[in-house]
Amino acid sequence: MVHICNSLIHIYHYTLGAYHRAWYTEAKEMPKVWLNGKIVSEQRARVSIRAHALHYGTGVFEGIRFYDTKKGRAIFRLDDHVKRLRYSAAVIGVTNIPPPSAIRKAVTGILRVHPYRSGYIRPIIFFGESTLGLSTHGLKADFAVIVLPWKKYLAKISVSLKTARTRRFNPRAFNPNAKISGVYVNSITAHHEAEQAQCDEALLLGDSGEVAEGAGENIFIVKRGVLYTPPPGNILPGITRKTVFEIAKNFKIPAREKRLRLADLYHADECFLTGTATEVTPVGRIDGKLINRGHVGPITSQIRDRFQEIVHGRAPKYWHLLTFVDQH
Ligand code: PMP
Repeated sequence: MVHICNSLIHIYHYTLGAYHRAWYTEAKEMPKVWLNGKIVSEQRARVSIRAHALHYGTGVFEGIRFYDTKKGRAIFRLDDHVKRLRYSAAVIGVTNIPPPSAIRKAVTGILRVHPYRSGYIRPIIFFGESTLGLSTHGLKADFAVIVLPWKKYLAKISVSLKTARTRRFNPRAFNPNAKISGVYVNSITAHHEAEQAQCDEALLLGDSGEVAEGAGENIFIVKRGVLYTPPPGNILPGITRKTVFEIAKNFKIPAREKRLRLADLYHADECFLTGTATEVTPVGRIDGKLINRGHVGPITSQIRDRFQEIVHGRAPKYWHLLTFVDQH
């Protein structure tokens, strides 16, 4: 009897030990996220089934990239992303918007506990647990930051676009300068159309047929040595787009904001997309029509290559755009 009991105790301890070992390994390996001021394992970062953002899309977010450089990992244009995140949060009526320093601390803090050399950072401010009423009165927003290892988004030398039947939302319905979770259903339905047409990305037009942007990117064309891109008003004014204007200025390439029609795109000398995820990606085909016979044009490649130098810290002139996280 004693023998059986001892064996049972032994089995019990062994199983418990194995369970603890498994739990420990898992806990050690579980990705960490930032949630409301704390670093927790992703498993512990739970959101209520009654989250207002889940039902109504009341979240705002950013996509930020970090790169491996000679000076350690660098976050690209963190301050611009912080500014836009706070702006977006104000647009959806968040009253407890974290101050810029708290957002910077969260982003750099969570990145430091991850070993990835390069990747993507996703801060999100959202309305959590609610009583399912529309009003957000009295609700405090949650703030989370996720880090993912990420290399390429549209991982091709050049991509194909499909003009979506889905039009870009009317700028009088939503503020186009804010990056609001719920509004992305517009981009996602447009992207489905591109996928169905076996294209890489969707191109969205505005209400009156003018070119707006890609589902998750801004768009540029080159015509007779001049860069053109749609003006703000019906686009998300991208941070990469802004960088392209700065690069163009330094290269003395004229760059203008101009309302564009689809025909301008079809007859462009070159075309490319810009975005945090997409970086600078040449467009080789739009609605089946080849741009620059499908080749990457000289201005596009000049800008793309310069962009890569900047984000990888190889252009000291642009170091002010990088936040080096591994230096203390
Ligand atoms: N437009 C849309 C709809 C986007 O989602 C993005 C990606 N944030 C962009 C443009 C490009 O913006 P950024 O360069 O700031 O990433």
